[in-house]
Amino acid sequence: MEHTPLPLTPEAALAAYEGVNLINGQRVAAQAQLDVLNPATMQVLGHAAASGAMETDAAVAAAKAAGADWAALPARARGKLVAAAGRAMLAELETVARLLAMETGKALRTECRGEVTVAADLLEFYGGLGSELKGETIPFNPRILTMTTREPLGVVAAILPWNVPLVLMMLKIAPALVAGNTVVVKASEEAPFATLLAAEVVMSHLPDGVLNVVCGTGADCGAALTAHEDVAKITFTGSEAAGETVYSAGAKKIIPVSLELGGKSPMIICPDANLDKTVAGAISGMRFTRQGQSCTAASRIYVHADLYDDFTARLTGELDRLVIGDPLDEATDVGTIVSTKQAATIARYVAMAEACDGAQVIRCATLPDDAALSPELFMLPTLITDLPDDHPCVTEEIFGPVAVILKWSDYDDVIARANDSRYGLAATVWTTNIATALDATARLNAGYVQVNQNLTIQPNVSYGGFGRSGLGKEASLEAMLEHFTRKKTIVMAFDI
Ligand code: NAD
Repeated sequence: MEHTPLPLTPEAALAAYEGVNLINGQRVAAQAQLDVLNPATMQVLGHAAASGAMETDAAVAAAKAAGADWAALPARARGKLVAAAGRAMLAELETVARLLAMETGKALRTECRGEVTVAADLLEFYGGLGSELKGETIPFNPRILTMTTREPLGVVAAILPWNVPLVLMMLKIAPALVAGNTVVVKASEEAPFATLLAAEVVMSHLPDGVLNVVCGTGADCGAALTAHEDVAKITFTGSEAAGETVYSAGAKKIIPVSLELGGKSPMIICPDANLDKTVAGAISGMRFTRQGQSCTAASRIYVHADLYDDFTARLTGELDRLVIGDPLDEATDVGTIVSTKQAATIARYVAMAEACDGAQVIRCATLPDDAALSPELFMLPTLITDLPDDHPCVTEEIFGPVAVILKWSDYDDVIARANDSRYGLAATVWTTNIATALDATARLNAGYVQVNQNLTIQPNVSYGGFGRSGLGKEASLEAMLEHFTRKKTIVMAFDI
């Protein structure tokens, strides 16, 4: 089928995606719509489809109908199409990145362009892995051929949050598609438009129905998708609470579910650490330029007593230099919080810290003074010190620009404190001593442990949490094989 030309500007994209889903290669209007706000101005940016069971059924039916032909294509051929979509994504980088900045409030220069680049890279990375969908021969009996093959699962439901929707979408759809599945993406109701555009870039390289996108709320659209009889696999990134509901929906049908949920990730700064690097590392690790809205944000910073005062003063000084402002302005380092709901949650935690005896709340940088912007969702990077370890700001995910700084002096004790969490997504250690690095990485209870750096998700680097941070891995070959295929064992005996 002929593809509709891609919109060339963010404004054209907003017009093209007003109230629609992407089903079977077409933009299809939904029966109802939801407002999507620009968090920097609090003006309505556009309207997303408010899909329910009817729209979700249509998307799953399209994915199901496209399944057999897509699965029958050689895996390398599927991979080449996905890799080509990655290269095409780079050609659309500016439009996609601007759209993302407009709907999420994330700064274009420090966040959105980089996100589109990583999203494109993930498509290219997985596109090259088609040949790896291979099985094994098993030395069971010399007269009996025993082997395994990898098969696609069928229709995959991929449910996305708003904070890094494009990278998270590619982590799901790229391995799913290369493995021969067809996909229905459920976009975030807060940030649907860049997802729609990025998905259309990918769809323009695929047969109709192989990739579909539905928009709407979790309660209506998400629940209809996870309950759908023809969905064979759910891959979900979002909150712990929604993750539980999604996992139950999968359990009812006995289908595999991968979950990437919350985090409260520790960063341990040892007395031998290089202070210049740790200060810069704390800013990037805390994802302050994304207003801390990151599942891997290093939000518990344990600093050795010898460095504590110096580190806190230098971190405060560096955070003061961050420019908070219009997400589209090239001078801006930090944009907004995504929504009033999220801002209220963050404010509630900061108020709890302020009410705590002895705690210090340090607000850094300055709010923008621009009449074109609405002040509501701009928030200052905030450090909190002198909190007890059982304070909610230390134990719970805030998902905002708020890091707690905690003092330590005993190494074994700080490892125990870092591990005292129901989450286990990420952890960081800063030390120049390799023995300390090896010991700490072995003992920290987290799926993604880094030393002297704080990278975000990278293609080929397996990523996923322990404990209540989720189930399963993403970003790697293993993720494609383990989570988007099923293994068949074949035992063949001939009377020869
Ligand atoms: P959320 O759980 O509110 O929503 C995520 C998605 O799930 C949305 O598309 C939503 O509509 C959908 N959803 C909600 N309820 C549903 C239901 N009952 N059935 C099906 N779908 C449903 O999360 P959010 O506020 O969009 O994102 C922030 C959260 O995501 C944070 O907790 C953060 O830690 C987590 N997150 C985790 C990772 C990771 O890799 N571990 C990455 C990014 C974000």
